[in-house]
Amino acid sequence: MEVMDARFLVGQELDSLTNILINEGGSASHAQKLSRWLYRKRLSDLRTIDNIPKILLEKVCLRYGVGYYQPIETFNAADGSRKYLFQNDNGQRFESLLMKSLRRTTLCVSSQSGCRMGCKFCMTGSIGFKGNLTAHDILNQLLSIPDSKSVNRIVIMGMGEPFDNSDEVLRAIRILTADWGCAFGKSNITLSSVGILDELEIFLKNPICNLAISLHSPFPEERKSLMPIEMANPIATVIDLIKKYPLPKPLRVSFEYVALGGINLSEQHAEAISKLLQGIQCHLNIIPWNSHENALFNTPNDDELQVFINLLNSLGVLTTIRKSMGGEIAAACGQMAGKHSGVSRL
Ligand code: SAH
Ligand code: SF4
Repeated sequence: MEVMDARFLVGQELDSLTNILINEGGSASHAQKLSRWLYRKRLSDLRTIDNIPKILLEKVCLRYGVGYYQPIETFNAADGSRKYLFQNDNGQRFESLLMKSLRRTTLCVSSQSGCRMGCKFCMTGSIGFKGNLTAHDILNQLLSIPDSKSVNRIVIMGMGEPFDNSDEVLRAIRILTADWGCAFGKSNITLSSVGILDELEIFLKNPICNLAISLHSPFPEERKSLMPIEMANPIATVIDLIKKYPLPKPLRVSFEYVALGGINLSEQHAEAISKLLQGIQCHLNIIPWNSHENALFNTPNDDELQVFINLLNSLGVLTTIRKSMGGEIAAACGQMAGKHSGVSRL
């Protein structure tokens, strides 16, 4: 299915750029140069390009925009993270979060505006589905921001379910990782999904980045009550698929586990998780629940969390805790709602 946004250069793969340039009287080598300017040098104004004939560029510009658009609002948190709110020309709003640590700069990008998966603990799920993003919208979250060139890791963990918009998400990842594109290492990109079986199988047969699967409960009935996707896409089948098509090194699979105080942190949970993940080389990433006004769960206290983690470790499950950033600006995992503050405007 081709939904590609044909009005803009950003979001086009090298073969499409080649067709565009050949149609205007240019060549494949001009397309190579143009993709370098767009995706490596991250140039928003084609007029400064000096190694492609001006007349050819003018013809291209008559038909296509470059496709950069700026965030409509930027929010800064005291922890150094920064949230960008975007609005595309369909009026859909979505957010990205930039997080800096000593070793790396990570950008968390959205794949949809809103989400139709309806997970009970997630703010994005509670606002419902507003629309799919194009590869152009997804890449613009990286290319248009001032810190673009310092980003060395991308996680597709913002608003939306990536496998509910696979064509555009996979196109964006191909552009991010191609030599002619942004040239990110495949293992520096992670796609997080609840596990939609058909799309997951297509991905696993031709993996192009790391995979994180949202587990959240090892028990089918409980998982169903938290994540409706479990009804038609059981986690047990998701795991069978991952065992059938293991990711080739250096790509990694991990599981995410939102820690809901008093709900999914018992000894039985730890034991069932260790059984479920047996035979897969992976780690479990625990995310203490981030509160928001649209759901009533409890963030676990440190003791409850530590007991659970000790249990998992003693059962041989490699467990880490994800310290969510951006809580104060409603940008931590599961808090994104695409809302304008109504105060400042960039
Ligand atoms: N839709 C994808 C990716 C976006 S959500 C997915 O669900 O995997 C990224 C992660 O944040 C997921 O593991 C999700 O379950 C988790 N999450 C959602 N709401 C949360 C909340 N309120 N607190 C902590 N984690 C949350
Ligand atoms: Fe969608 Fe992920 Fe939120 Fe579930 S957790 S509603 S899949 S964004």
